Amino acid sequence: MIHRYIFIAGGVMSGVGKGVACASIGKILQSKGYKVTAIKIDPYINVDAGTMNPTEHGEVFVTDDGDETDQDIGNYERFLDEDILSANYMTTGRVYQSVIKRERNLEYNGKCVEVVPHVPQEVINRIKFAAKKAKADFTIIEIGGTVGEYQNILFLEAARMMRTETPKNVIFVMVSYLPIPSKIGEMKTKPTQTAVRTLNSAGIFPDFILCRAEVPLDEVRKQKLETFCNIPRGNAISAPDVETIYEIPLNYEKEKLGEKILEKFSLKIKKKDLKEWQKFVLTAKRVKNEIHIGIVGKYFSTGNFTLADSYISVIEAIKHASWFYKKRPILCWINSEEFEKDEGKLSELKKYDGIIVPGGFGSRGVEGKILAIQYCRENNIPYLGLCYGMQLATIEFARNVAKLAKANTTEIDKNTPYPVIHTMADQVKKIEEKKMGGTMRLGAYPCVLAKDSISFKAYGQKKISERHRHRYEFNNEYRKLLEEKGLRIAGTSPDNKLVEIIEVAGHKFFVGSQFHPEFKSRPLKPHPLFREFIKAAIS
Ligand code: GLN
Repeated sequence: MIHRYIFIAGGVMSGVGKGVACASIGKILQSKGYKVTAIKIDPYINVDAGTMNPTEHGEVFVTDDGDETDQDIGNYERFLDEDILSANYMTTGRVYQSVIKRERNLEYNGKCVEVVPHVPQEVINRIKFAAKKAKADFTIIEIGGTVGEYQNILFLEAARMMRTETPKNVIFVMVSYLPIPSKIGEMKTKPTQTAVRTLNSAGIFPDFILCRAEVPLDEVRKQKLETFCNIPRGNAISAPDVETIYEIPLNYEKEKLGEKILEKFSLKIKKKDLKEWQKFVLTAKRVKNEIHIGIVGKYFSTGNFTLADSYISVIEAIKHASWFYKKRPILCWINSEEFEKDEGKLSELKKYDGIIVPGGFGSRGVEGKILAIQYCRENNIPYLGLCYGMQLATIEFARNVAKLAKANTTEIDKNTPYPVIHTMADQVKKIEEKKMGGTMRLGAYPCVLAKDSISFKAYGQKKISERHRHRYEFNNEYRKLLEEKGLRIAGTSPDNKLVEIIEVAGHKFFVGSQFHPEFKSRPLKPHPLFREFIKAAIS
């Protein structure tokens, strides 16, 4: 089978939505009958995103096969409705790690191993491997960072080498930004022209430019870019700001981007299949009735901007489920430390239709989160706890219902008299030896649901598979006692050794999952737990 490759690089500045551009191009090619996969290249030395601070780098997105990757992989999954696997993610660190390992294994047959060509060659091998594994007609490769940066130069070199090797099967797209300085009041193309020239000097001549801007591009500017950036007529594509990212594939369609890309590869449209997506986008844009969801966490020194990136899968999962019920979700970030300072503020939680405590690590803000969870439990406010949110709900229940004062997780208090959440057995040694990178319980594991639970009702099936990322777990020594006090163990590993879901019976909705359901929510298939949570929140 012929594999075709679309490389995407960003010009002018970061944060212009390269990931969503990749996902959207993938979506339109998929809707025309082609099998698509997408790869993210992160130019960091970190071997995976697991060791990067989410407030700096964004959410750590966990794949089914247990890789800790970039949030863009989540965008690909949501747009393509496909599981994207570890093979589709690489970092500079990961690439060098394999080159060095090969060198130590004498795999280069005595040659001098050099940065060029051996590093780009390793990148190419990885790209081809992922394309083959996914059996993809098209593989879209997002090169992280901005053109002109020192860090991504070897990845651009890999792209150039691939084009030289098979010119008919490789194209380049640059996603750029066209500012409209307020004092000038007109859209400027010069930064894009300069960025293209920089890309040219790396031997790459883009076939398309996606022009991100506040407003659509006019004809004059399109022509200017075509002339000065040396791209074919009609290939400067307008990519204005949108209300919802899910609208972007539809905007590209207006510019006939899918057709133009297929033409470039001398391929035909096999089918047209964007109807459901169109309907979904229309709903998302039209719904008016609001639903207010509070997300309680430790939000210090981060603005709204970084928050949205750190919790992107949670946010998208809430949106999918809300739109499913024709509601407009209004999200509010609630700093749990405020409750620690002033418990009186807890009553503000009444304003929300539902509360979520998402995943997290460490002690900051934890007591405030526990107070918020208690408030939800006692006041019948729908509550969804994700990973840490489940562990803290267990602690809250142990302290306030089972009266185990000072119950805690050993992550925070090693000497707690009641370690209701404790270190997983296989993690003890790893923590002692400080082997922290990529060593949590990661990726998909099966879970069996209890027949009479809210979760079973939500999923409509007994056996499920969900993605994990944690070192601590529910301590089975307290299982019997907590169950006697009314905590429902709604899901466990098939061998019944690991508690995966807890619930509080007789509550509107009180569910905590040890896994992260948010990673598996898709626009047209909202996640069952989020769906039920939203349903309870609006009832
Ligand atoms: N800190 C907790 C653990 O490691 C929860 C992790 C999370 O929320 N992803 O078990």
